[in-house]
Amino acid sequence: MTNMRKLLILCLLTAGNFLFAQRAGYWQQTVDYKMDINVDDNNYRYDGKMSLAYSNNSNQNLSKVYFHLYFNAFQPGSMMDYRLSNITDPDRRMIKNIGTSDKPKTQSKIATLTPDQIGYQNIQNLTVNGVAANFTIDGTILEVTPSKPILAGETVTFNMEWDAQVPEQIRRSGRNSAENVALSMAQWYPKMAHFDEFGWHLDEYVAREFVAPFGNFDVTIHINPTYVIGASGKLQNPNEVKGYQNNATIKSKNGKASWNFKAENIHDFAWAADPKLVIDSAKSNGGVTVYTAYIPTNNEVKENWNIALKLATEFFDFCEARYGAYPWPTYSIVQGGDGGMEYGTATLVTGGRNIKSLVDVIFHEAAHSWYQHLFGINETVDEWFDEGFTSYIQDIAFQHLFERKGSLDTNPVINAYRAYYKLALSGKEEPMSLLADYYKTNYAYSNQAYNKGAVMAEQLGYIIGKENLDKTFLKFYEIWKFKHPTPNDFKRVAEDISGINLKWYFNLFINTTRTIDYSINKITDREIEIENKSDIAMPIDLLVEYQDGSKELFYIPLREMRGEKQKETYALYNDVKWTVLTDWFWTKPTYTIHLNKKVKKAEIDPTKRLADIDHTNNIKEVSK
Ligand SMILES: [Zn+2]
Repeated sequence: MTNMRKLLILCLLTAGNFLFAQRAGYWQQTVDYKMDINVDDNNYRYDGKMSLAYSNNSNQNLSKVYFHLYFNAFQPGSMMDYRLSNITDPDRRMIKNIGTSDKPKTQSKIATLTPDQIGYQNIQNLTVNGVAANFTIDGTILEVTPSKPILAGETVTFNMEWDAQVPEQIRRSGRNSAENVALSMAQWYPKMAHFDEFGWHLDEYVAREFVAPFGNFDVTIHINPTYVIGASGKLQNPNEVKGYQNNATIKSKNGKASWNFKAENIHDFAWAADPKLVIDSAKSNGGVTVYTAYIPTNNEVKENWNIALKLATEFFDFCEARYGAYPWPTYSIVQGGDGGMEYGTATLVTGGRNIKSLVDVIFHEAAHSWYQHLFGINETVDEWFDEGFTSYIQDIAFQHLFERKGSLDTNPVINAYRAYYKLALSGKEEPMSLLADYYKTNYAYSNQAYNKGAVMAEQLGYIIGKENLDKTFLKFYEIWKFKHPTPNDFKRVAEDISGINLKWYFNLFINTTRTIDYSINKITDREIEIENKSDIAMPIDLLVEYQDGSKELFYIPLREMRGEKQKETYALYNDVKWTVLTDWFWTKPTYTIHLNKKVKKAEIDPTKRLADIDHTNNIKEVSK
């Protein structure tokens, strides 16, 4: 907490010129967790004790507060169970096939969990500033009514004791993963719900996406000494822990080893534990210590993790230069869970992958350190901002660092564009502004969040210019790190950097499922007519090739932009004359360009960053 204050003060002092772009009266809640966890590995249960300092920095007195009890989702009859049984395309990891080949039928894995296999978090007692508080539990939400309201500006201490059972591996967290990691501990502790200027975010655990206040974590885990733990934050007692590995004296209670981890300014803490895990580490040039904790089942797996560790250090240097300094001393890549998921200074990923897939998932989850973790983006509301921008960073880093492509001269997220076009034409698309859990299909959710979200970023570069987009990323970081920004905050920084108004773009692309389609209608020796056949208007880059072999880029800004981008630095625009034409505007369907030289052919946006769902009409040659 003190750190957070220091940081805020530092921002006020050093970034005075950025303050214009912050929301007026900005505030955020903060948390300071101290947890003591006693693991019974034989029965996959643990007892927990928590002391949590909660600072109500809002201007509102809080008569109730809420916590998430995510493990409760893994019980028959839970909202997650019903969702799995009723969505048309359930997550295949979470269902089992109970039909026959001619009569396929699936069942939610949660529906058949026995009492010994379910997950639960059972609150035994709870006090606020030492006074017992009333509480009720509905599904995955714990509602707490303190004996008196938590006043605006007040910090109170919650003390809680609870016991929990780790569910059979269903999703993200659980026991005995498919790769045999005993304990994957994500969404595992009673987690203070997020309260901000939009109110309480009380999302049941139905499938995905999280948000929480920033704060400090001091977590001590007592566990069978044969276990090795990979976790968020930094291990505070490495020498003592090494002693356990060498079977030296175990000083802790009940013959258990005690691992103490601390992390500052994060909003989610995860860990995994298994006797087979081995730990390795390397340091990036920028000074981030990257840890890996994985099961070296064979030489190939070992080799893959060695390569991945080295590339991960390069990844942090790469991202720091482009998206802002990584603000924590460590990052841990821990084998666990059922795919890949981001947590504070850590990720749980499956590890028995080929090298390409392993690097890809690590880059994705590590990129969330920016677009999710250090910003604290509310991914329950703005899932595309988090998953889409993360996928954007992941793809660019992968092409630079894994595929070793020297320059990315055309659209680096062209695959995301293709997936988005498919979604747009599928009839299943829903607006990106929909809450993450509420999509009718997982198909629409994933392609919208990951792919249309990446398109949103790259296409913004088309509108304001690639260099302005790069500048926007860095300035957005300076202003909004650790402050739970919204997409509108990103928009305002982009507007300030570029001098271009973006209200129309953010509204139409996020809140609607409208699509873009421009076409070259007519082309003659001296005249080109373009038509907007869609209901989103965009600025147009039109590359014209003349019969004498010379080229000219006609840039047609949109009137709503109230500004224009500068000539872009793509190699394909070298030796191309850059001509800015008069504005077009959305109420006018066609635009005609008259030329002084004989035209050979014309193409709309050869960089392929305009998300035009029909490219067949974007290029046309003068008929001979
Ligand atoms: Zn992600």
